[in-house]
Amino acid sequence: MLRFASLASGSQGNCLVAEADGTTVMIDCGLNLRDAEKRLAKLGLEPRDIDGILVTHEHGDHACGVFDFAAAHSTRVYMTHGTHAGMRAEGKVIEGVKIIFLNGRENVAIDAMLVQPFTVPHDAREPVQYVLSDGASRLGVVTDIGASTAHVQERLSGLDALVLECNYDADMLWNGPYPGWLKQRIAGPLGHLDNAESARILSALDRSRLKHVIGAHLSQHNNRPALARAVLAQAMGCSEEWIGLASQGDGFDWRAL
Ligand SMILES: [Zn+2]
Ligand SMILES: [Zn+2]
Repeated sequence: MLRFASLASGSQGNCLVAEADGTTVMIDCGLNLRDAEKRLAKLGLEPRDIDGILVTHEHGDHACGVFDFAAAHSTRVYMTHGTHAGMRAEGKVIEGVKIIFLNGRENVAIDAMLVQPFTVPHDAREPVQYVLSDGASRLGVVTDIGASTAHVQERLSGLDALVLECNYDADMLWNGPYPGWLKQRIAGPLGHLDNAESARILSALDRSRLKHVIGAHLSQHNNRPALARAVLAQAMGCSEEWIGLASQGDGFDWRAL
């Protein structure tokens, strides 16, 4: 069985856990150590249960807690060379932490968990996102991409569960409080997905196996949960209640496949 939950999702911090037959991995740790430990406990996990941290990219809301957690609990860290270089440049790498380097082309197995990293367009050194599998079911997690690509579409087709970025509502972003350069960055091809683009990605996928669709990384300034939920439900052709949402404060509780 594959099951997954989120500790937090949004620009203040992202962290997701997934478990397959006794193997538990974390995708990103954009939380401080105490917060990560507290939120793991809420999900019934202890830090030593985590068999590896898969890092998507070096931005602080995904990576700020990675090395602190790994150093405190002797956890292996999986990341690309580019992400490592980005973190080293910012002085975030702690010596002695075991790092296993990934790329966007090769799959890796962490005990019972099959990990498929894939490259995405985002303004980081070498960002990847992940599809996780226990061999029977597949979960895709995609946040922090500026636009979809044929490669992304191919990786996300035929999934059993999808956690998909719905960063902003275009009207709210352009009419909102952010400075012009930041609006351009967010909306640009290496920034983030707006609700409409997320819905377009979803509607172009093979959705026949999807049992869970969860909107994630919602902006607290430039989006509303109800807006994201409505467009994803429309793309799925399902009721709005069926669509899940990940929140900054609580992430989301365990879901099983
Ligand atoms: Zn982010
Ligand atoms: Zn980012």
